[in-house]
Amino acid sequence: MGDLNKNIELNIMHVDMDAFFASVEQLDDPSIRGKPVIVGGTALGKRGVVSTASYEARKYGVHSAMPIIKAKKLCPHGIYVPGRHHRYAEISDNIFEIFYNYTPLVEKISIDEAFLDLTGCHRLFGDTISIGKKIKNEVKERTGLTASVGIAPNKFMAKMASDMEKPDGFVVIKSDEIDKILIPLPVGKLWGVGKKTEKILREKGIKTVGMLRKIPRSDLEKMFGKLGLRLYNLARGIDNRNIESFSSVKSISHEATFSSSLEDIDKIYAVLLELSQKVVRRLRKKQMKGSTVFIKIRYDNFETFNRSLTLKNPADDVDTVYRVGKSLMEENNLFKKPVRLVGIGLESLTDKNQQQLSLFSSSDSEERLSTTIDNIKDRFGEKSIRRARNLYYEVYEQKNKQD
Ligand SMILES: [Mg+2]
Repeated sequence: MGDLNKNIELNIMHVDMDAFFASVEQLDDPSIRGKPVIVGGTALGKRGVVSTASYEARKYGVHSAMPIIKAKKLCPHGIYVPGRHHRYAEISDNIFEIFYNYTPLVEKISIDEAFLDLTGCHRLFGDTISIGKKIKNEVKERTGLTASVGIAPNKFMAKMASDMEKPDGFVVIKSDEIDKILIPLPVGKLWGVGKKTEKILREKGIKTVGMLRKIPRSDLEKMFGKLGLRLYNLARGIDNRNIESFSSVKSISHEATFSSSLEDIDKIYAVLLELSQKVVRRLRKKQMKGSTVFIKIRYDNFETFNRSLTLKNPADDVDTVYRVGKSLMEENNLFKKPVRLVGIGLESLTDKNQQQLSLFSSSDSEERLSTTIDNIKDRFGEKSIRRARNLYYEVYEQKNKQD
């Protein structure tokens, strides 16, 4: 029974490849192994930023998201490469295949990072710790690259664990070890505490997680709203979020509420396009396609209309989602009153890799373009690329939804 209990509490694993892009470059070109390699930037000119720095480059203070110009000052003799996303994607596929051999509950966070829920896998594969070791070894054998693995009772602690002994780390955090690990940590180390939140906390004299724990929940909620409750829980190592695998995500949608209701149809369409792009970007990140496009419109009097259309072929491209959403609005004559809220989403989601190509699927070049845009947005943020039409209306609040 003791073993079984141990398994129940340690079911979540976070796997994160070490300096992934830079490691792939060093794998494929032995002459740059052991040298500072910086991936990113160059192809995009002077505004480029570092996508990944090898551990050798990190010694010079180079890190991801740093402008290339700055990296070059810190590490002038570094080897700067633009990156080969097709190669990274190919290796990533191999890594994810290994994960799926153990569990269907895999949540892809990015090309080189995932959460795995191993509940129910123990009879076949042993306890979580031995599965973790097997996965780590298989990744190394199959790709020649190292991964850091974190195992814990929940996502937050597993993510903390995988980061603790990077690179090539393997860290297990049991529930009775959470306090010992969290209490002395600087607040900035909590996953989800960004620079801004950290600054506010520090200004209030809250420097460590231990100090954060002393703040009553109601005070944190007053200070940070919804994030307050999250901070309260994270400080205690509590995280009840489930693994969002393909099968658990039912729909992806975005909506926008306007500060004053809109009558200008062009502006509404501009917002709809922006929302469609966000939906598609999240969809593609999860490697899914969706068969049903749905829209939502709300008027000043809170009267709300939902309409949907199921496509012949599942889609994951902005043009289809936007065009269908737009025609749903036009055909249902939804612009008869000023619009207060607009939303768009996709449901009936399926794993992209399980689908066959069809005559109507996007062409190769379109596929490549969308992938490139996704990559650039991953590196530079959502606002970096906008289609011409997106010179739009900034005054609205946005909300993401995912069920
Ligand atoms: Mg990584």
